[in-house]
Amino acid sequence: MGKLDISRDIAEFINERKVFRRRQKKRLTKPFPWQHKKTLVVMKVVALLLAKHCHLVSKLKDLHPWIVNSGATSHMCQDKEVFSTLKQLSKSVNIVLGDGRALQAAGKGDITLDMVLPNGESKLCTMHNVLYVPSLSYNLLSVSQTSQRGNIIKFSESACYILSNSHKLIAKAEMKCGLEYNVVNKANVTCSLTNEDAWHRRFGHLGLCNLQKLSRKELVKGYKFDTSQELTFCESCTHGKQHRTKFPTSVRRAEVPLCLVHSDLCGKMNEKSLSGAEYVLSFIDDKTHFTWVYFLKRKDEAFEKFVEWKTMVENESGVKLKALRTDNGGEFTSPRFQSYLKKEGVVHECTVPKTPEQNGKAERMN
Ligand SMILES: [Zn+2]
Repeated sequence: MGKLDISRDIAEFINERKVFRRRQKKRLTKPFPWQHKKTLVVMKVVALLLAKHCHLVSKLKDLHPWIVNSGATSHMCQDKEVFSTLKQLSKSVNIVLGDGRALQAAGKGDITLDMVLPNGESKLCTMHNVLYVPSLSYNLLSVSQTSQRGNIIKFSESACYILSNSHKLIAKAEMKCGLEYNVVNKANVTCSLTNEDAWHRRFGHLGLCNLQKLSRKELVKGYKFDTSQELTFCESCTHGKQHRTKFPTSVRRAEVPLCLVHSDLCGKMNEKSLSGAEYVLSFIDDKTHFTWVYFLKRKDEAFEKFVEWKTMVENESGVKLKALRTDNGGEFTSPRFQSYLKKEGVVHECTVPKTPEQNGKAERMN
């Protein structure tokens, strides 16, 4: 029979800890922090607060968070929609609340939650034999049912961690209002906005270092930021910092030499060459990938070098240059360069500004 008796929280809580400690002693060589007396005291206080302030927790009805509860003998959920499987109970199960009220469980089933881990990754966790209690005000994750499956629960001052029996982190529950540990899952992650996250958003998604600096130097009145806290995963920041989608690999290739030539001017170099050159002008033939390189002392030599190169290659190959692909550099878009290309009937293919990927061959050459 499933029971929720918050007034008996502490007795059950301590009893469970004793059973749990005995089990852990057998399994582990290293003790967990919660096994220390000090942490146990903190946990007792948490249980007391839970009993005293359960009416406050019920105000969170709209959010339906999952609360880690040591008094509940079973996981309980009030939302039918989240069950992946739900069966009717053959026998009725009564849930007794701290104030003596009894609630009826309407079914039993499995629920899969998408847990958000501290590193921002998410992990699917299935809870079995969860009681469906429609009149509950919030969902409960039972400590005893979790530990009965061999999982380990660690409590700290600000969070509770659920680990598998192989010590892998399964889920994290954050302390809310100093009263309860709310399980951080994707459905509730928007409700679990911490104070630090709120400041991060208020300042237009300002980075952690700068938020800490504001606090350290006391630059903002009424600004309360815990510098020891890390920011939780921010989806907007991730989207904002994303660049653009990958450029598709070009499949078009010139069929004859000099049909398309890629060119780029590289420089100014930090060091001059022995002959005093500071720029490198390259021409790459799309068909043969044959490359010519010229070293220039000044940018404006590019035009003369281009004319010189064009005359040379056309004489050598007997074919005419048909298209030249460059970026929008001034040396290629100057009126003199443009009118020469027009006169010679050479098509000038310019890249879209700030998109060097479109002239990938010449850029990689540089
Ligand atoms: Zn952000």
